[in-house]
Amino acid sequence: MPGHPVPYITQWSAEQVPRLRVVARGQGIGYADERPYDRDTGGVLWTRVPCLPGKGRPEFGMVHALRQLRAMRELLCQVCGQPSDRDANGVLWLLGEDPGDPALRTTGLTTAHPPLCMPCALKSVRVCPHLRERYVALRARTFEPVGVRGALYRPGHPAPTVADVTGVAFGDPRIHWMRAGQLLMRLNEFTITRLEPATLHEPAG
Ligand SMILES: [Zn+2]
Repeated sequence: MPGHPVPYITQWSAEQVPRLRVVARGQGIGYADERPYDRDTGGVLWTRVPCLPGKGRPEFGMVHALRQLRAMRELLCQVCGQPSDRDANGVLWLLGEDPGDPALRTTGLTTAHPPLCMPCALKSVRVCPHLRERYVALRARTFEPVGVRGALYRPGHPAPTVADVTGVAFGDPRIHWMRAGQLLMRLNEFTITRLEPATLHEPAG
């Protein structure tokens, strides 16, 4: 999307994931040359990726693991990296679901997309072809990290191999076999909201 700002969580071409040697370790996997910061405080192994935003070309559709994790944890806007929008009804999330989706009438909705600030949310629904078709804006009052999305390994010789790219919950023993790429957040209590119409140009009639 030339002319549009590159989202904070988008990966850049200079941010190549180095060839990581994954080995069997404990109840799951680890890196052959593992360092303490390769795991989060819960012990989950994360994809080790350099942080060089702005270098090379943006790789739209590719999410930078550590910026996604930071945006989720600190509730930063996934587009600009500034604090996301929050009011009395909660934090602003924008999902590409159909507003009539029955999942939206239940409690608990899991997403890998970090929240947004209002200006970026308004801009996204105008310029993002996927969201232009359908989106739902939510205010979440309660939410919690519930798992990760990434590469699920299985035992192998001489080394474990990637079996699937999927999401796994923190309580699932397979979490030890994951190389995480994105934090999954469950929105527990949320309400569907409107993006503030002040700057939306709604066609008359
Ligand atoms: Zn923003």
